[in-house]
Amino acid sequence: MYWESYTHDKMKRIVFDALEQNLDYRDKPVLGLPASYLDTEVFYQDAPFLKDAPFLSALIANPNHIGCHTLSESEEAFRGTHKIEKELIGLCAQQIFEGGEGEFDGYVASGGTEANIQAMWILKNYYVTEFKAKANEIAVVYSEDAHYSMPKGAALLSLNKVVTKVDEHTREITKESVIEGIENAKKKGIKYFIVIMNMSTTMFGSVDDIDEITGWLDELNTEYKVHIDGAFGGYIYPFATDKSRYTFQNEKIQSFTLDGHKMLQSPYGTGLYLTRKGFMEYALTEEANYVKGKDYTLIGSRSGANAIAVWMIMRTYGSDGWKSKIRQLLNKTSRVCDSLRDRGIAFFRNPDMNIITIRAAHIPKKLAEKYLLVPDSHDNPKWYKIVVMDHVTQGLIDKFLLDLDGKLH
Ligand SMILES: *Cc1c(COP(=O)(O)O)cnc(C)c1O
Repeated sequence: MYWESYTHDKMKRIVFDALEQNLDYRDKPVLGLPASYLDTEVFYQDAPFLKDAPFLSALIANPNHIGCHTLSESEEAFRGTHKIEKELIGLCAQQIFEGGEGEFDGYVASGGTEANIQAMWILKNYYVTEFKAKANEIAVVYSEDAHYSMPKGAALLSLNKVVTKVDEHTREITKESVIEGIENAKKKGIKYFIVIMNMSTTMFGSVDDIDEITGWLDELNTEYKVHIDGAFGGYIYPFATDKSRYTFQNEKIQSFTLDGHKMLQSPYGTGLYLTRKGFMEYALTEEANYVKGKDYTLIGSRSGANAIAVWMIMRTYGSDGWKSKIRQLLNKTSRVCDSLRDRGIAFFRNPDMNIITIRAAHIPKKLAEKYLLVPDSHDNPKWYKIVVMDHVTQGLIDKFLLDLDGKLH
């Protein structure tokens, strides 16, 4: 994994060049586009700081990134910033997920939810097109710890659901529940499976064992495709371990979801969907005639500034910088775990992730409220999680531990 870190000056040059290549509503005779720069009363373009602020300048220029720019010729008007998005998709597919050059498509989605639904939509259409499958012959398979975008997507796409169980302590998917779930589904006439695996769940930071689970599915002679939900873990897990099986080198994997607006701290609206080439086409909307290059995405119009924000953060750190940031966060997380262990408090933690999920029995409700610990369920909490993010300082952790001691004794 390697990508270079750029200076602010270099990024500024690249972004301003890209904006220059985009259409400028002031210079060109633009009569046909239902778009313009941001409202000038509110977002005035002569603010002096803008010349040093590539992201804000992009926000104000307001390029539309509608469509998929790794795939087809796209709207000339915004070709400069489209190229930055294409580079971003390449960085993620090749450097984070070890794919080959030009072997992947993808786009910046509104978030992890959209990227997961895009994945299910594409795989549904793959089965419908290639196997003449009917919607009721297809199921989405995911664990009870998976994100709620799975049932949301299954409902939207009229797909069946197979929800597998996890072990209460290890949070690992159980073999019995996979076998039982798949066999029952087959008895009901379901033939095709869209399997979602977690490259970190939201609540526990647990990562599904992909080799084990695909092994079980193969034993059952199942027709399936695997999508990886890395909305939470995508910018953490691959940087924490050298032996990840979650890469495009793993032929079982079809596509990934990543979220910039979680760990990467980019603005909301920065999910990423990445897929092997040859699959984006299953989401083609033929009727998108007014969009040059047509549309292969769920969303339609979207802000090009979002792609630039993610690209700028990745380029500011470079791969080495990002790895060392993640290493520091994980060390800080381990220190909290040590303190909890000293106090005999039961918790779950994946050593390659920055989430600590504590048994609710150890946490008085007041303490959870004071520190905004997130419960697994607001109605009947069994667990509370701590996410060790950038703003979680050692001082804050110490205060929490002091309060915890005060409450416990
Ligand atoms: C946050 C999250 C999502 C959904 O992402 P949004 O960006 O909120 O739509 C999906 N999956 C996992 C594992 C997540 O943590």
